[in-house]
Amino acid sequence: RIRISNVEKDYGNLTVLKDCNIDIAHGEFVVLVGPSGSGKTTLLRMIAGLETISRGDMMFDDLWVNNVDVGDRNIAMVFQNYGLYPHMTVYDNMAFGLRRRRLSKAEIDGKVRRIATLLSLDGLLGRRPRQLSGGQRQRVALGRAIIRDPEVFLLDEPLSNLDAQLRVQMRSEIMNVHRSVDATAVYVTHDQVEAMTMGDRIAVMNQGRIQQIGTPEDLYDRPRNLFVATFIGTPS
Ligand code: ATP
Repeated sequence: RIRISNVEKDYGNLTVLKDCNIDIAHGEFVVLVGPSGSGKTTLLRMIAGLETISRGDMMFDDLWVNNVDVGDRNIAMVFQNYGLYPHMTVYDNMAFGLRRRRLSKAEIDGKVRRIATLLSLDGLLGRRPRQLSGGQRQRVALGRAIIRDPEVFLLDEPLSNLDAQLRVQMRSEIMNVHRSVDATAVYVTHDQVEAMTMGDRIAVMNQGRIQQIGTPEDLYDRPRNLFVATFIGTPS
């Protein structure tokens, strides 16, 4: 469970997040959606421990985690540009996620192969990232994240480099993976269709404020303000 209470963020004298409140239950898939510059990535990076919190509080389960080192959080983050190591094979890229664990070679091998099967990467373990398609690279990045059995997955626009057809396919793959690993997911996108199809709940952000948090039905049927109604109702 993640609780974000009255969280704010300043960069110099610019306040880019204002009075953010979200309570995320274990296993939930929450999407942060909003236009460019609305503060989605900043909020995600604060959950990851990659940005300090200027004001407010953040709790993981019953632990206060304001400004706790990222290494202490059982979190995996997947970025837009995948962050794969170009000189390493798919196998080694995935095994790299386990580097801090004291595991035997056989245990590592078992985990890599199990995740590779889950993500349809079985035949590709010996390739390097440049020998893969965009969708395959995306799957490797996901694999490297889930191999650590994280309690929380943070995904920042992970599909924005893919073509439209693959994006639709990868949406359901990510949702299937989320279901099968029993983790909490926070997913950033600027695409309202992606948000509405993927999120159990969606936080609509604008100008550093969460305008509304709700299920897709809540946002469609009971938008709290004109921004939410217009943003949700306008295809990207
Ligand atoms: P996008 O969809 O374009 O990635 P976003 O909603 O994720 O946008 P953020 O990246 O969180 O938005 O940025 C929110 C605001 O904070 C923007 O106005 C941005 O210019 C500002 N900002 C982000 N990082 C920094 C930084 N390191 N220093 C100063 N300002 C920053």
